[in-house]
Amino acid sequence: MMQVRFLQYLIVSFFTGALFCACSDAAPDYGNSPATDRVFAMQMAEEQVALGSRAAGTEGAERTCAWITEKMSAMNGKFVVEQDVWQENGRTYRNVKAVYKGQGDRGRFVIVAAHYDTKVLALTPDFQGANDGASGVAALLAMAKALPEHSPLPFDLHFLFFDGEEARLEYNEQDGLHGSKRYAGQLQANKTAENCIAMILLDMVGDKDLDVRFPADTERGLLDLALDVSEKNRSLAAFNRGGAVMLDDHIPFQQIGIPAIDIIDFNYGPENIYWHTQYDTLDKISGESIAASADFALDLIWALAEKQK
Ligand SMILES: [Zn+2]
Repeated sequence: MMQVRFLQYLIVSFFTGALFCACSDAAPDYGNSPATDRVFAMQMAEEQVALGSRAAGTEGAERTCAWITEKMSAMNGKFVVEQDVWQENGRTYRNVKAVYKGQGDRGRFVIVAAHYDTKVLALTPDFQGANDGASGVAALLAMAKALPEHSPLPFDLHFLFFDGEEARLEYNEQDGLHGSKRYAGQLQANKTAENCIAMILLDMVGDKDLDVRFPADTERGLLDLALDVSEKNRSLAAFNRGGAVMLDDHIPFQQIGIPAIDIIDFNYGPENIYWHTQYDTLDKISGESIAASADFALDLIWALAEKQK
């Protein structure tokens, strides 16, 4: 997909240059979006599962936060990493933010996010959360690793690892989406929400039988672009529109006017039986699916960069 577009660009810029000698005005070339490493992606999911339960407010979550911070800090210095630690109702939450600086000078950015906490299940204290939790974070880490040392992009990328996505009981004003609500609130408070071009969320992207359906309430422009990216890359047939609306970490961003898309496969096992159960284990996910989702997100980011021209 990117090769065709790149070729078109070369042909157009050749003729533009030949006729008008306007070489210095040529549109920037972002090149092909990088490809992620499926072996690394799976390894990142395995390492998270080895950390044990990552439920918000537990030692496991604290360990995972430290692990993510360490991983992102060690990516050849590509990222500036910071933690945000806060309390809500006596529980400690932690978001990790890692910024990949682009070429733009207007402070514009795209958010790429996943949640790292896992659901508390009374009957499954050793819940792995291989797909629901670990796969999204693994996809972000694989993307981070694949990015070139010097960004060609016309905007910054803000990688966000959210805590407290899972509701203890049921989603309501006080329960669930803690990290994403916190961050969307901060964007509003410091008046930088208007600089955010798009928010791309990856959640449950590891299913061996990958079938990503974009939620029905995805912002139209971003949905069209995602379908376009999917259409042009025939190997990514698993990415398509869906009929359902998802309550997930993209919602707080939609609510403050940021175009947001949830890359999610909410069809995990027969009748979704692997979701939030003892069956959400490493053997149900694959590095191929995580990497395909991460590659799709990178393609979408590169398509957003093309749109900025
Ligand atoms: Zn969940």
